[in-house]
Amino acid sequence: MKLPFAESYKIKMVEPLRRSTRKERELWIRKAKYNLFNLRSDQVFIDLLTDSGTGAMSDRQWAEIMLGDESYAGSSSYYKLKSAIQEITGFPYFLPTHQGRAAENVLFSAMIKEDDVIPGNSHFDTTKGHIEYRRAKAIDCTIDEAFDTTLDHPFKGNVNLNKLEKVLKENNRDKIPMIIVTITCNSSGGQPVSMKNLREVKKLADRYEIPVFFDSARFAENAYFIKIREKGYADKSIREIVLEMFNYADGMTMSSKKDAIVNMGGFIAMRDKELFDRASMFNILFEGFISYGGMSGRDMNALAQGLYEGTEFDYLETRINQVAYLGEKLKEHGVPVQCPFGGHAIFVDAKRFLPQIPQEEFVAQTLAIELYLEGGVRGVEIGTLLADRDPETRENRFPELELLRLTIPRRVYTRDHMDYVAAALNNVYDRREYIRKGFVITKEAPILRHFTVELERA
Ligand SMILES: *Cc1c(COP(=O)(O)O)cnc(C)c1O
Repeated sequence: MKLPFAESYKIKMVEPLRRSTRKERELWIRKAKYNLFNLRSDQVFIDLLTDSGTGAMSDRQWAEIMLGDESYAGSSSYYKLKSAIQEITGFPYFLPTHQGRAAENVLFSAMIKEDDVIPGNSHFDTTKGHIEYRRAKAIDCTIDEAFDTTLDHPFKGNVNLNKLEKVLKENNRDKIPMIIVTITCNSSGGQPVSMKNLREVKKLADRYEIPVFFDSARFAENAYFIKIREKGYADKSIREIVLEMFNYADGMTMSSKKDAIVNMGGFIAMRDKELFDRASMFNILFEGFISYGGMSGRDMNALAQGLYEGTEFDYLETRINQVAYLGEKLKEHGVPVQCPFGGHAIFVDAKRFLPQIPQEEFVAQTLAIELYLEGGVRGVEIGTLLADRDPETRENRFPELELLRLTIPRRVYTRDHMDYVAAALNNVYDRREYIRKGFVITKEAPILRHFTVELERA
């Protein structure tokens, strides 16, 4: 008999979860104004809101916490992190920051000015926010295949080189400070970018003399997909693949809350000493001195260790198999999910799940609330609420896709938890035709409204 797959770690410390009844959940979600961000965490049984900073650190990471050096300048923790980043990414210079968006803030302060254009593959929302805040423009050059949830394509995060070249041709060289490639592409569903695509983007960028930066929150998951799906990489180690990936970039920003498996942290790394010097000034201004930048010594230690663990094949295999396991359970039952499954989450196509609910009534949010009521599982809406209103017309923007994202924290939940989530959503699917109405907004903020929006039943 072929031995089944099993997780590559065991559990040493546990945290209790609280079960609840449907009646309790009905009360709680009503009090939360039908906004899942307003729920207290103990009102949630399984929390799939995000994989950001929600991972479980290992015994070795916790041991590193005790070894942290809290010296203001030149701490051993800084040097430990510097050497881990150098070894894993190949970049000689780095700046610590308190999280990923802080890395964007520092790097963009040094590089982006008003009226610039920054092409890339579906920029993440904080990335786009930091670009637009500087009155510059993010231009999406993702391949068209990314927007069809039914289409099987191994690298839906890829950049369309024709779209990219068009942007490079149509704009002056000094208006394009950088190209940003997000690996894996969060906004298109945790979809990877192939090595071939990274190589070709860099070649094209070199011809136009434009630097390439990777938004690298899930770089290790991207490397895993390259190993599994791309010809010529099956026998290479994750670390070798990671080094080759970063070889096609001039620098990177990192949210360490993702693939580096820490609860808080980030960094920037680069090859250019002159850029490092310029960015250092903003790091000191916004984040703190360049040898800690918003992180304590112990946190830099845990991050260094997390970078090594996050780039181990066995860990990544466990992680990505768990996401795919949930995806398969839903797909088998007929639930419309994005294919192929992404690295960190399963995306449920809410328009196909609940075709009777109009987009004006927030169909993905309706599905998220039904899942919470059914089993105490918290997912997150990636749809009209998140898309905000048009800044000029103040009309709702209706995105092409209305998705319920089920994001899996790293090393936190077991396969039984995934079975539970699948059963809850499959139950909702079985009674989907009885869900007749969505929601209307009673209160909203002018931007980033999804965090604080208040709703009632339509
Ligand atoms: C999470 C994330 C960020 C922002 O990082 P924070 O640590 O949340 O500030 C940027 N880019 C991508 C792709 C991300 O997933």
